[in-house]
Amino acid sequence: MNGSSHGRGEGVATPARLARETMAAKKLRAAAIAGRLAGAYPAAECSLDFANPFQLLVATILSAQCTDKRVNMVTGDLFRRWPTPAALAAARPRDLEAVIRSTGFYRAKAKNILGCCQGLVERHGGEVPRSLPDLVRLPGVGRKTANVVLGSAFGQAEGIVVDTHVGRITRRLGLTRQTDAVRAERDLVKAVPRDHWIAFSHRLIEHGRTICPARGPRCEACPLADLCPRVGVKAKSPRKLAQRRPRPAAKRRRP
Ligand code: SF4
Repeated sequence: MNGSSHGRGEGVATPARLARETMAAKKLRAAAIAGRLAGAYPAAECSLDFANPFQLLVATILSAQCTDKRVNMVTGDLFRRWPTPAALAAARPRDLEAVIRSTGFYRAKAKNILGCCQGLVERHGGEVPRSLPDLVRLPGVGRKTANVVLGSAFGQAEGIVVDTHVGRITRRLGLTRQTDAVRAERDLVKAVPRDHWIAFSHRLIEHGRTICPARGPRCEACPLADLCPRVGVKAKSPRKLAQRRPRPAAKRRRP
């Protein structure tokens, strides 16, 4: 079927098996998942437009609570006006806010971008640092942004980018139970082979877009079906939805 020893039946992942899964078994399953994703989405990559690490850093800050497509619509103009960290660090907040307004939370994002660029100029000679501790010390830069930059701009696998899609799908796959991104990443780096760390997130995001969205996953077409304890989640959902459907309000008795 999917070209793996994890065929349906004996090795299939189920919630009961997951509860007893050892770390060694989880690592094997995670490696199989990473391999299948590589086969299914070989060209998946960062969907933010960027020409250098500085541009990716700023674009990633802008991508909070916003689609990459929307970010790509503003960054062309942004980097034409302020092509370097020094130029952007000296921008007037009002001018920057006007350019990035459509990405949402534009005041906070402008403040973070200006602070981040000032940090690049003052502490790193106008260069984006290649270390995670240095990156997360910059305003507006958390682990996720740092991992995006290190992975996609420098090709350094320091961690796994966990956004809402990666979090949702890895929970479905039983690779983590954590809803907090930092804790989920901690689980994922223990299980997923390091040589897959950078592409793993891009591939999962693609997988979420095409097969496993938040609503209505197409488990019947999923290349990970025999590795996923939540396979069939769609088939179960009508009953679950019915169970969750709020009961009609009880009629009030007249006093
Ligand atoms: S589509 Fe179904 S089988 Fe595939 S990862 Fe999502 S929940 Fe699991």
